[in-house]
This record gives sequence, C-alpha cells and structure tokens, in this order.
Amino acid sequence: MLGESIKGKSVVVTGASKGIGKGIARVFARHGAKVLVVGRDLKTAEASAAELVKAGGTASALAADIADWNAMQAMAKAAVDRHGGLDVLCANAGVFPQTKIEDMPPDQWDDVLRVNLKGTFLSVKACLPHLKRSSQGRVVITSSITGPVTGFPGWTHYGASKAGQLGFMRTACIELAKYGITVNAVLPGNIVTEGLAGLGKEYQDSMAASVPLRRLGDVEDIGHAALFLASKEAAYITGQTIIVDGGQILPESLDALAQA
Ligand code: NAP
Repeated sequence: MLGESIKGKSVVVTGASKGIGKGIARVFARHGAKVLVVGRDLKTAEASAAELVKAGGTASALAADIADWNAMQAMAKAAVDRHGGLDVLCANAGVFPQTKIEDMPPDQWDDVLRVNLKGTFLSVKACLPHLKRSSQGRVVITSSITGPVTGFPGWTHYGASKAGQLGFMRTACIELAKYGITVNAVLPGNIVTEGLAGLGKEYQDSMAASVPLRRLGDVEDIGHAALFLASKEAAYITGQTIIVDGGQILPESLDALAQA
C-alpha cells in the first residue's frame, strides 16, 4: 500500500507548526512516521506536535530558524537523538510578505531569499550526513506555482525564491543520487491555511472560482504528494516537480473556465 514504507521512518518537517507543513506532518504521522515538527515559535510547534500525538502519532517539536546554520545542525541532531535517525526532510518552511517592487525595501528582498532559498540549502546540508545513512533518503521541497510557473503582483522576491528552489533541486538531485537520496518538489496552488481561512468564506469562494476543480487546496493535498515522493514507490523519481493546484495554471483565460 502506498505510504506503508513510511512507517517507522524519521521525518523532519520544517514549518510544521502551521499551514501546509502541519498538513504534511499530519499525513506522515498518520502513516506511522516519527515526525519532528519545526518552526521558530516553540509554543506553536509544541501545540502542533501535541495534536499529532493525541491522534496516536509519534512527534516532537523543535524551535529552529531554517536560515540559521547552527539551528539547522541542531535540528538534524534532534531528529537523530529523538527518533533514531533521519530518513526524510520536508523542506517546507517559507515566508511570503506581499510588496510590489516600487515599495519593497531592499532588505525585504534579502530576508525572503535568505529564508526561502538559503534556508532550503541549509536544511538540506544539515540533514545530509544523516540522510546518507538512510535506506530511503528523501528530500521533498515545498516550492510554489508562483515563480516557477506563474506570477503575482507583490511577489517578485517570493517568486524568485521559489523558482530558485527548483534550480537548487536540479543540481542537488544529481549530487545526492550516489547516496540513493532523491530530491523532488511539490508546487502548491492556493491552499487553505489558517491565514487564508481567516479571510472568510466569500474570499475563498472568489479565489476558488479561478480553479477548474472549483475548490482551494487542502493542506493534506500537499501532504499526500509529499508522502508519495517520500515513499519507496517513488525511489526512481528525482529532480522532479508535482503541481498540486486543482488545475489552476491551465485555463488560458477566465473565458476558458466559463465555457467549460
Ligand atoms: P504559513 O501558514 O505561514 O506557515 C509557515 C510555517 O513556516 C510556520 O510553521 C512558521 O512557523 C514556519 N516558518 C516561517 N519562517 C520560518 C523560519 N525562518 N524557520 C523555521 N520555520 C519558519 O505558510 P504556508 O502557507 O503553510 O506555506 C508553507 C510553504 O508552502 C511555504 O514554503 C510557501 O511558500 C509554500 N506555499 C504555500 C501556498 C499556500 O497557498 N499557502 C502556496 C504555494 C506555496 P513560525 O512562524 O513559528 O516560524
């Protein structure tokens, strides 16, 4: 059964205290993984890990900034110390302040690239010595449709960081192939997280209207794609992307949707 190979594996999910990462962590925990829930705020991360434990899973929390090299080394060590190894890294944490070029302070550009892009590199680098020892070493990056495929006003820095993650992935997968480690990415469309849910049903409905499947994504839709890429069955897939967007990027125009 798909996902069976995840049972007992040690999985690190960055940004698992909220949103998509929380959904990824939930899917892995449900399939029997030992999950390290990582976020900057310890209380939120602990609450997220506690939910997984309450549902019968194995999980613990760690406060760590993915843009901090020492913190990433401590994160990898925590996974090994607490869960007996490190098999899967879901490099998911990211930030997305929305600011148009004309208004963007140059420092904000650096911050977004530092967290989203350098943070991906640092988390992979820190986990690598342990992933090498796994018989099922996997890196699953949460990128986005924004940047690699589409654009959205206010997200030049974000889009550059998300496209940059794919550039990183395409060389990382070649470098790590000799260890049997695969590196792939999930590209979410519009996913309902706590932040988006707070904007209300009307707003969500208006966004869903531009999606062929007529709904926004659920955090577990991303979790299931990540689970597949981390599974034994995906052993021969590396350097690839899966778009999980309900078909959002496909209509040529609003009219193309209206005529369907
Ligand atoms: P979210 O709800 O804001 O959650 C972000 C998570 O990342 C939180 O757990 C946050 O916890 C953590 N985080 C942020 N900066 C961090 C840092 N420097 N170090 C460690 N943890 C950090 O965001 P989301 O919408 O779930 O997005 C998650 C990922 O999906 C991002 O990479 C984003 O680009 C991507 N994505 C999201 C969507 C969407 O529709 N939601 C679409 C496409 C792609 P703390 O604040 O406690 O650190």
